[in-house]
Amino acid sequence: MVTIDSKCVQQLVIFCKNCGQCSLSCPTHFVGLFNPLGVLRDIQMEGPEAAILNQPIFNCFTCNRCMVNCPGSNGHEGMSFGELIRDLRTYAYENQILPKDYIEFPGIATILTHSSDFKESATKLENIPDVDVVSYFSKSNHLKIASKGEIAYFPGDLPLYLQKYPQYSPELIEIPTSVVKILNQVGISPVVINIKPLGHDDYWAGFSDQFKILAEENVKIYRTAGIKQIIVESAEAYRTWKFDYPSVVSDCDFEVYHLSEYLEKFNLIHKLIFDFDIDVKITIMDSSRLGRLGGKVYEPLRKILKHSQGISIHELESNRDDAYDCAISIHFPENQEVKKMQNQRLREIIDVGVDYVVTTSPKQIIHYLHAIRNSDLEQSSFPIIQDWAVMLNRLLYKQ
Ligand code: SF4
Ligand code: SF4
Repeated sequence: MVTIDSKCVQQLVIFCKNCGQCSLSCPTHFVGLFNPLGVLRDIQMEGPEAAILNQPIFNCFTCNRCMVNCPGSNGHEGMSFGELIRDLRTYAYENQILPKDYIEFPGIATILTHSSDFKESATKLENIPDVDVVSYFSKSNHLKIASKGEIAYFPGDLPLYLQKYPQYSPELIEIPTSVVKILNQVGISPVVINIKPLGHDDYWAGFSDQFKILAEENVKIYRTAGIKQIIVESAEAYRTWKFDYPSVVSDCDFEVYHLSEYLEKFNLIHKLIFDFDIDVKITIMDSSRLGRLGGKVYEPLRKILKHSQGISIHELESNRDDAYDCAISIHFPENQEVKKMQNQRLREIIDVGVDYVVTTSPKQIIHYLHAIRNSDLEQSSFPIIQDWAVMLNRLLYKQ
C-alpha cells in the first residue's frame, strides 16, 4: 500500500510498534492540533497521500520530542518522526498535493527563498541574494575576522530573521559580534564571509530542490575559502551543516562544532577570563536541533557558564533530550489551542523562577518574545531571554 520511496516511510514499516507513545509525548497533540499516531495509521492503512490530505502535517514542529519514548527510535537510528513528516512534505510538494491546513510561509527563513504558493517551482540560485553577514562587523574594527582560512564562523540566517522580525532585533543583533569576541579572546580570527541562506526551513518544509541548491552553493563558497572547521552558535545551523548538507552534497566533510563544544574540545576554556561576577539565576532552553536532532550538545554550554561565580543554573522540567523546545512557535494561527500550548510552555519557564532564560537558537528567541507578547500571563513574571554567546560575552566583558 505504501508507495512513497522514502527512507523514513521504510523505517516506519520496519520499526514502528504502534504503541502510541509518540502521541503521549507530543506538545501539539496535548492541545489537539496534531496527532502523530494518526499520520502513522493513515500511512500504514492507505498510504502517504491519505496522510497528507487527512492530517495537518504542517502543524508538526519536526522536533522529535515524540521519539524520546519511542521503542523504534535510537538517536539517529530507527524511527525519526520529524524526518518522516519532512519526507511527506517533500512528497506533497513534488506531487503537487496541497496538504491539509497548509501554513503559508512555514518557517521563518523561507520567506526570501520560496514563494508563498506551495505549488510554485523553486527559485533559481541567481535570484536568491547573498546573506550579508560581513556587515555585522563594519563598525567593530577591533574584532578580527578573515576572508580565507581553515576555521569559519557561520552566523546563519540571522539577517533574514531581522528582516522579517525587526521588532526583535535588540535580542538578536549582538550574537555575531559576541561569538567573534569570544573566538578572538581564545586566539582565533574566524573566516566570516557572505553566503546564501542556510536553507534549514526549506529543508524541513519539504522544499528539497531549493534546499539542495542552497547547500551546494554554500559548500562551494566555504571550500573556495579553504574552510575545514565550521563553528556555529545557532542550533539550526548546527543540524544543517552537520547532518543535512552532507545528506545532499557529496564529500561535504567539514568538521562542525557548536561554539561551546569547540571551546571544550580544544581546551580553550581556560583562556576565557571571567572578570564580571554577577548574581543571577538562569535556565537553559535546549534546542532539538542542537540536542536530540543534533549532536546532543547539552553539557559544554552549561559547564562554561558555570565558570562565572554568581551564575546558578536551574533546569526546566523539560530539559536536554526531553525539552519541549518548539511549543511556543510563532508559526501557528492565534487560536485557543495554540494559546494553551504556548501558555503551558511559558508557565514551565516562569515556574523555574530565574532571571534569564538562555538559548542557542535565535529562532527560539523570536518564538519566546512573540509568545509572551500574546500571553495574558503577568508580563513582569517572564525572565529575560538571551542568546548563550551573548550571555557568555557579557560575563567576559563587563557589559
Ligand atoms: S512511539 Fe514509535 S513505535 Fe510507538 S507508535 Fe509512535 S512511532 Fe510507532
Ligand atoms: S515531531 Fe514534535 S510536533 Fe511533530 S509529532 Fe513529534 S513531538 Fe509532535
